[in-house]
Amino acid sequence: MTSAPTPFPPPAQGEPWLLTPGPLTTAASVKQAMLRDWGSWDEDFRAMTRDLRARLLALLGEGAEDFDCVPIQGSGTFAVEAMLGSFVPRDGKVLVLANGAYGQRAAETLRYLGRAHVLLDKGDYLPPRGAEVARILAEDPAITHVIAIHCETSSGILNPVAEIAEATYGTGRKLLIDSMSAFGAIPLEPAAIRFEALVSSANKCIEGVPGFGFVLARKSELEAAKGNSHSLSLDVHAQWAAMNRTGQWRFTPPTHVVAAFLEALRLHAAEGGVAARGARYGANRDALVAGMRRLGFQTLLEAAWLSPIIVTFFCPADPKFVFDRFYALMKARGFIIYPGKLTAVDSFRIGCIGHLDAAVMRAVVEAAGAALAEMGVASAAPPAAALEERARLGA
Ligand SMILES: *Cc1c(COP(=O)(O)O)cnc(C)c1O
Repeated sequence: MTSAPTPFPPPAQGEPWLLTPGPLTTAASVKQAMLRDWGSWDEDFRAMTRDLRARLLALLGEGAEDFDCVPIQGSGTFAVEAMLGSFVPRDGKVLVLANGAYGQRAAETLRYLGRAHVLLDKGDYLPPRGAEVARILAEDPAITHVIAIHCETSSGILNPVAEIAEATYGTGRKLLIDSMSAFGAIPLEPAAIRFEALVSSANKCIEGVPGFGFVLARKSELEAAKGNSHSLSLDVHAQWAAMNRTGQWRFTPPTHVVAAFLEALRLHAAEGGVAARGARYGANRDALVAGMRRLGFQTLLEAAWLSPIIVTFFCPADPKFVFDRFYALMKARGFIIYPGKLTAVDSFRIGCIGHLDAAVMRAVVEAAGAALAEMGVASAAPPAAALEERARLGA
């Protein structure tokens, strides 16, 4: 990219753009923040931990005063497991709302934890709706909690958490949210949407590097979580209590990752917070989808459910289209894309998040066009069967 200066310069020489939903492309200053060592017990690092918790809490918006922030070492899945194991009592029962890999993973986690659960599986395309959640809850009084995936990153679908929250609390149950790939770009204000806890991680919409996740939970739930957890290292109550008492993480924190994350949080605030971050990702998605449609590609989801986080495209029907080749040709042009994670049809995904803007997305489209030409693919149109299936399911 040699065009006009942009606030989103290309990554360092030889480094590709990551169009993947975390790890993702980070700002140079975020990477630079990692170039020193920190003593984890030292007051300087404890101040960094306090700052991180306060800034994340503030991102919740109205109603945040009833919540607290508990960082958890590991990737996002560790934080999901920590949340489920800490807030669902051992005799609790969870309704898992799944429409992709992350919903399935929540159910699998509960299986490992030995927590009773039922699965509402909507396949790859469809959102769980409030009315069906209300019906399941009415029919099964043993269910105590619902877990919803905010943005299901396997398809990019943005699930209707507001109506899910209404259905959950309308029948007196509690909502937990995996907001991993949405928090920081899509608002989830406790004053507008009720829930007990959410999880996200360092390497998604805040644009940090991987190494920890965090739980934002109602203080009353944090207090009630004492003794629930199956795990020493994933006990959210214990981490919270120790952090409040000593200012330290219980076990070795990813110090450099925390330093990078604080810089990422400063950039997030400077950009204009959650609204501005979401607007940039939305513009990224719009530039991407419009350009790819011009090339003949079709999105898995209709416009109403397309998140500004990641977009799934059907693979073209043309037998000359081979995904591995397409991937390599895109990489040769400086773009790392993402294979599909759908169960039924061939697809690939392009992430809209990371330290990049719509100009980068237009370059992605140009590269995709060039890759199709190089493969000799005449039309990017998907197989008729994929479109029929989508129409049949009313996606
Ligand atoms: C990224 C992500 C996770 C966590 O995945 P890790 O690979 O453990 O970081 C969980 N849920 C959703 C919706 C995600 O996007």
